Amino acid sequence: MTLRIAVLPGDGIGPEVIAQATRVLRSVCSLSGQELRLSEHAIGGAALRHGDSPLPAKTLRACRDSDAVLLGAVGHPAFDAESPAQRPEAGLLGLRLALGGFANLRPAICHDSLAACSPLKSERVRGADILIVRELLAGLYYGTPRGADAREQSAWNTMRYTKADVVRVARVAFEQARMRRARVTSVDKANVLETSRLWRATVDEVHALYPDIALDHMFIDTCAMRLATDPRSFDVILTENLFGDILSDEAAAVTGSLGVLGSATLGGGVGIFEPVHGSAPDIAGRGVANPIGAIASAALLLRHAGRLDTEANEIERAIEDVLERGYRTRDLAIADESWITTAEMGEAIEHSMAESIDRRWAYHAV
Ligand code: NAD
Repeated sequence: MTLRIAVLPGDGIGPEVIAQATRVLRSVCSLSGQELRLSEHAIGGAALRHGDSPLPAKTLRACRDSDAVLLGAVGHPAFDAESPAQRPEAGLLGLRLALGGFANLRPAICHDSLAACSPLKSERVRGADILIVRELLAGLYYGTPRGADAREQSAWNTMRYTKADVVRVARVAFEQARMRRARVTSVDKANVLETSRLWRATVDEVHALYPDIALDHMFIDTCAMRLATDPRSFDVILTENLFGDILSDEAAAVTGSLGVLGSATLGGGVGIFEPVHGSAPDIAGRGVANPIGAIASAALLLRHAGRLDTEANEIERAIEDVLERGYRTRDLAIADESWITTAEMGEAIEHSMAESIDRRWAYHAV
């Protein structure tokens, strides 16, 4: 069956890293005989520049007609002064809402070879393997009322959660924990926020259905501190939208670089697969962006949207292999270590994959 993917490169480094992700996708699918149909569409600043809305109707239609969406990143300082609806970020928030994926899975793994890249001591971070499950369709990013009054120099947002919002994402976290080390840490601010008290009580209720999973609750401030001091103590972190956004960037930095983390948004009609990082306008167009987060997102896409575990494993193994062999993009290079460009990293991963698949064929042919 053909896997149809809507590719939305977006802004800044989005197109650079997505070019490498699609190169690897094409390659693994051609090596394994899996048919693939990619179609590219504009979102965010790239759409606004053509006089469109940040989420053009034709882009949304194409996403709905696909099996999965592979997205780069949106956002550019050129639009910073625009109203919320005319900013690139509105395109991404609109897409998430329209496709309905409410659970954003962000795996943060410290590869042995990357332990030295962490700002933490290697022995504290080596072996860290965390899955952040971030609620993606509620909380401050979507709650109303929201607005700003320039005359009164005030602005307001609303953090709103319903019990149903929490139940569905908590189930995802417990299910994921079952396939890992059977521990969930639910993160909130229940000492201050009503939404967090609802969150905590609801997670406890859902937990009753998963007696085989250990659950603990942690305040967001404690969790931020613990991630920086003892990242290996976590298995699955379950949290709401804003907290998850912040904690996953921290987890990325702690385990090596923001550039290496991919994510999968599940639970809706069509899944969205995108790196955790933003559009990084400070480094766009210079060939220094790390494409591993985008390539890891492509692996997640194959696993979750295509049920192509073997191909997903091949990509993940190739990422680990090139890192072990010492290939580094600039963000991963320590001191005067040499580094390779975005495209060279994509090429190295593609080669590693092809070599391994060739070896397997040769083995079966004997
Ligand atoms: P960012 O993630 O774009 O960048 C933060 C820092 O990490 C920068 O120094 C950047 O150079 C570096 N970085 C990020 N990705 C990298 C990569 N792949 N390789 C090497 N270095 C990398 O966050 P920001 O600077 O706060 O935001 C820039 C823009 O991105 C803003 O417009 C913001 O709204 C947008 N944004 C979009 C998303 C998304 O599309 N999902 C997420 C976060 C931020």
